[in-house]
Amino acid sequence: MSNLLFEYMKDYLVNMLFIILPILFSQSIISKEHTAFETNKQKFFLAIIFSGTSILCMSFPFELGDTILDLRLIPFVIGMLYGGVRVGLTIIFSSLTFRFFLGGIGFYLSVVEYVIIFLLIYFVIKNNYRTQTLWKKIITVSIVTVIPTLILLPFAYHVVGSIVVVKVAILLTIISFFSLWCSIYLMESTIEKVHMIIQLHKFEKETIVSHLAASVSHEVRNPLTVTKGFLQLLKEKYKDTEDRYYFDLALEELQTAESIISDYLTYAKPSMENQEPLNIFEEMQRSINVIRSYAQMHNVDINVAGEDISYRGDKEKIRQLFINIFKNCIEAMPDGGTLTVSMFCDQKIEITIKDTGVGMTESQLLRIGEPFFSTKENGTGLGMMVAFSVIKSMGGTYKVLSKEAEGTSFHISLPLTSKM
Ligand code: ADP
Ligand code: MG
Repeated sequence: MSNLLFEYMKDYLVNMLFIILPILFSQSIISKEHTAFETNKQKFFLAIIFSGTSILCMSFPFELGDTILDLRLIPFVIGMLYGGVRVGLTIIFSSLTFRFFLGGIGFYLSVVEYVIIFLLIYFVIKNNYRTQTLWKKIITVSIVTVIPTLILLPFAYHVVGSIVVVKVAILLTIISFFSLWCSIYLMESTIEKVHMIIQLHKFEKETIVSHLAASVSHEVRNPLTVTKGFLQLLKEKYKDTEDRYYFDLALEELQTAESIISDYLTYAKPSMENQEPLNIFEEMQRSINVIRSYAQMHNVDINVAGEDISYRGDKEKIRQLFINIFKNCIEAMPDGGTLTVSMFCDQKIEITIKDTGVGMTESQLLRIGEPFFSTKENGTGLGMMVAFSVIKSMGGTYKVLSKEAEGTSFHISLPLTSKM
């Protein structure tokens, strides 16, 4: 008996090795820019290695009495969950082709099984699988894998006509569950580790930028201001339209440089230095007025809702916070859209800023706020970094939600100093 058990264990471990290997390999294709297996290259890689695994699992099945079992469904489930629909279809196609050449009635059962699981996983992916907690993921996927067994069991019982089928099904379910849990756990911890490394890099970068900002920005701002003043004086002297055009260009560029410098300065010293009593809703409306023409240029409608809330803080920094976020939202809607802004006060000041723009991928979302992270041609990658550091210095918290092609929403929550 114990010999037999060892035989089973050996076969099972071989199968587990096939499943674990691609998960370990997939670590190497996660990059800083693409942590979510979203590029075609990554998907192609996943499709190939998980198809290979699936075929290996079928080639080395384990035999229980006269029933042949294998874990081919696990690579399919994991591959499709993390790679998406196309990866899933590729794995199904290659596995079923291979299964077809093995022959037997099992092929048709396999087709039904794959179709059911494919539909179930499709449903799971569409319901934001990736953002769920580990436990929820494990439970959801366990349910998904047990359903086809439950559906097919009566049928198999009818064909074989013996209670052995039920025993085998129970055993297979237990083994599958265990293997699946291990796989998901491994995959998740692999992704988590990469995320941790990214956070670490981000933190190091932030430290450097903050040192740089503190030492250089102030020295640069003064000469800029002086130059701007003199240019304005000179512009008054020159009446020629062409000359004036050049002065305007020069002043505009200086303005850009100044706004970048002020981003750096705010980042270096996000603390609220010039605290004064103000109405934070009014400040938000002022910021909206500043960017209104920019919004019109982009065909963006702005909806504002809120109530007056008295607050103590640094006007300049609060405006900078709002303007940086608004600007990004507008820039995310090149073909027009709606910017919805609301501010309400409960126990805290709750601010929501929402656009109907291009949205972000999962990896972009992970990197937002990182110094110099920008997807725009002329982007500086400072706006969000500054905005978030202002929120932190106000003792607040923020959350960014985004969906590609649907839009992005910023949820900011600030502690209340005093209510009107
Ligand atoms: P910049 O605007 O100069 O690119 P930011 O720090 O303001 O730098 O933004 C960093 C990046 O975050 C942007 O390049 C963009 O990819 C992304 N992003 C920020 N806000 C949004 C938004 N509302 N919608 C989509 N992407 C956004
Ligand atoms: Mg920006």
